[in-house]
Amino acid sequence: MKINGTLISYFFICKTKLWLHANRINLEDNSEDVRIGKILHEINEEKSKKSEISIDNIKIDKLTRDYLVEIKKSDSDPEAVKWQVLLYLYKLKQKGVERKGKIEFIEKNRQDKKVHYIELDEVNEKELLDILKRIETIINQDTPPQAKFENKCKKCAYYEYCFI
Ligand code: SF4
Repeated sequence: MKINGTLISYFFICKTKLWLHANRINLEDNSEDVRIGKILHEINEEKSKKSEISIDNIKIDKLTRDYLVEIKKSDSDPEAVKWQVLLYLYKLKQKGVERKGKIEFIEKNRQDKKVHYIELDEVNEKELLDILKRIETIINQDTPPQAKFENKCKKCAYYEYCFI
């Protein structure tokens, strides 16, 4: 299975969610947060139609001369976003395109945005390859990793599946 941005971010958010999504148990259309994310993405898509590109199984929000830009509606999972962007930078590099990463967090109901910069270096590239292997191992398991209740579960589209 080709690992995309969603799967790598779920690896950091929740391994149960990673397995469920990868194995096509998809309840996410019911989630308000996912809907907001999609709308934000669509708005952004309208604004930057010329710069959005698809490579293999990933979609990059924006590619400028210097940066690969990823736009998020919240900074609640910075580690997940960081590795998502590193995956994109890696895929671009494989195609002979080298860029730095720029992450823009646009909070709901706020005009300002937080911006973070990231680069794919030797160390995090090695770590990325290790993470991709670990993701393959999890999604190829016959059953999902045991769900553990955390605060984030209350907002998760899989809440009913895991706990009811
Ligand atoms: S409800 Fe919690 S344990 Fe279940 S998939 Fe969502 S985040 Fe993971």
